[in-house]
Amino acid sequence: MSTLEIRDLHVDVTPADADAEPIHILKGVNLSLDSGQTHAIMGPNGSGKSTLAYAIAGHPRYTVTQGSITLDGEDVLAMSVDERARAGLFLAMQYPVEVPGVSTSNFLRTAVTAVRGEAPKLRHWVKENREAMSALEIDPAFGDRGVNEGFSGGEKKRLEILQLSLLKPKIAVLDETDSGLDVDALRVVSEGVNRYRESEGGGVLLITHYTRILRYIKPDHVHVFVDGRIAESGGPELADELEENGYVRFTSAVAAK
Ligand code: ADP
Ligand code: MG
Ligand code: MG
Repeated sequence: MSTLEIRDLHVDVTPADADAEPIHILKGVNLSLDSGQTHAIMGPNGSGKSTLAYAIAGHPRYTVTQGSITLDGEDVLAMSVDERARAGLFLAMQYPVEVPGVSTSNFLRTAVTAVRGEAPKLRHWVKENREAMSALEIDPAFGDRGVNEGFSGGEKKRLEILQLSLLKPKIAVLDETDSGLDVDALRVVSEGVNRYRESEGGGVLLITHYTRILRYIKPDHVHVFVDGRIAESGGPELADELEENGYVRFTSAVAAK
C-alpha cells in the first residue's frame, strides 16, 4: 500500500508577470490518501484546487512555504518533477498543454520510458498503446498528431486518462477531468479511471467543481475546499449536500471570519 501524506501545506503562486508579488493561496492543507482509495476535493472556482494539484506535481511557479508532502515517507518536495513521476505520482491537468511538433505516440513512449526506467519493446508497445487507446475510444490516428494540437477539450481529457492507463501511477491527481466533457466522453473517461483503480489499486485525488462525475467514480471521502484549505470532510453524502445546496454554507462561513 502507498500513502500520500500532506501536512499543513502552504503554497504561494508567482504570477507570470515578473513584477508581481507571490500570492498566498494554500493556507494549511492536511490530507492523507491511501492507494485503493478515492478522495474527492470539491470547491468553488479560485479556492486553490489546481494550486494543490500543481504543488503535488512540482510546478515551478508554485512555491511551498510551509508544511510537507510525503509519499510512503519519502519527501516529495525534495524531488524534481521527473522524480515525482518515477516515484509514482501522476497529474492529469485541468488545462492540458499543446506540444506542437511532438507526436502523441512519441510523447507517450517517452513518458512511459522515463517512468518505467526502460523503453518498452517496440512490438509490445504498439500493442499496449493500441489497446489503451481503444479502451478509451481514441482514434489511433491521434498518435500521429502533435500532443493536444487541435484536440477538442474532451479529446485532451481522454489523452490525460490514456497517460494514466499507461503510466500506472501509485497516486493519481485528476484536476477537473470532467470539465468540458459531454455525457458519452464522461462515461468513457470515468470507466478509464475505474479500470485504473481496479487493476492497479491506485489512489485517486479527484478534483472537481461539479458532483456529476461522482456518479461514475465513487469517492470514499469528500473534502470541501474553500479559500485555500479543507473546510469540511465527510463521506459521499457530503457531495449530495453540495449537489443540493452548493457551496454557500462554506463560503459564507469563511467570509464571516
Ligand atoms: P481552482 O483550481 O480552485 O479554481 P486555482 O488554484 O486555479 O483555483 O487558483 C487559486 C487562486 O490563485 C485564484 O485566485 C487564482 O487567480 C490564483 N492563481 C492561480 N494560479 C495563478 C497564477 N499562475 N498566476 C496568478 N494567480 C494565480
Ligand atoms: Mg478553476
Ligand atoms: Mg482549477
